[in-house]
Amino acid sequence: ALYQTPDVTKPRYVRVNTLKMDVDSAVLELGKQYMVRKDDMVPDLLILPPGSDLHNHPLVVNGMIVCFHRERQVHWLQQPLLPNQDGRSAMPSFGPCTLIISDIKVLDACSAPGNKTVHLAALMKGKGKVIACELNKERVKRLEDTVMLSDIEVLHGDFLNLDPKDPPYSEVCAILLDPSCSGSGTAAERLDHLLPSHAAGHASDIIDTERLNKLAAFQKKALAHALSFPAVERVVYSTCSIHQTENEDVVKSVLPLATSYGFQLATPFPQWHRRGLLVFEGSEHLLRTDLVEDKEGFFIALFERRDTADYSKM
Ligand code: SAM
Repeated sequence: ALYQTPDVTKPRYVRVNTLKMDVDSAVLELGKQYMVRKDDMVPDLLILPPGSDLHNHPLVVNGMIVCFHRERQVHWLQQPLLPNQDGRSAMPSFGPCTLIISDIKVLDACSAPGNKTVHLAALMKGKGKVIACELNKERVKRLEDTVMLSDIEVLHGDFLNLDPKDPPYSEVCAILLDPSCSGSGTAAERLDHLLPSHAAGHASDIIDTERLNKLAAFQKKALAHALSFPAVERVVYSTCSIHQTENEDVVKSVLPLATSYGFQLATPFPQWHRRGLLVFEGSEHLLRTDLVEDKEGFFIALFERRDTADYSKM
């Protein structure tokens, strides 16, 4: 029963597709039927009362607002692979976006199903270029569905094999790296212990250190690769994991390399109170959310390069 009852206790988040409509008009329009308020952190995010049913609303049908499918979190058993994005996990897109003033190239390195890719494109207001890279063939199809009718370039391939010195990658100014992770900060993983197989002592009830280490090894490689793109000024690393192994430890491991490339850790959303675990000097710049208090546990690190040295020869 737990996973069949729609959750009407949590507010409903919707994102305004600012390519099609401005936020104030959306508030006015939705305000005719619902109590709407703007999120205080993410400017294009609106919060509606729990249980608001919007799926037939003309703004949704016309793609002017995008719903975050909280039902998916409830029906996680049937759809364990579907994205678990709620309003808060829209935040990682903001790292590269605060850099976007005019025409720049942004690379979404591990992008399917494309939730953050389309958010990026919307924030760029049709300027610049978003390239979305995805390794997995099946997930590329989902990515293509998500970005349909947009100007986003889909690239089916391994991010690790992209040569940072080759155009167009040599011109990329910002990278969003949201790599495969354990998903331990999402509702689906959190409710894992309610599975019958768990009660029977299924292996999934134990934190699988080997799996975490494997994921972290990839995450470190991918982050180091992202930092090696010569024109990049911002790299956002995000996970929906609560584990230090995939979060602070990954960031810490690339710090010497990041410094050699002229990067520093910057503070995404300085007004947010929950920061990284204090396991190295500078970890207070990192951002965490708490899976109980904030409903989802995710993590953001923002690397910024402010100098103008030529990194194309490194
Ligand atoms: N950012 C996405 C969103 O918000 O919709 C979610 C990304 S998901 C956490 C990570 C994705 O990275 C998966 O689709 C996975 O197939 C892809 N991936 C894993 N390794 C990759 C690689 N080496 N190159 C490109 N994509 C990769």
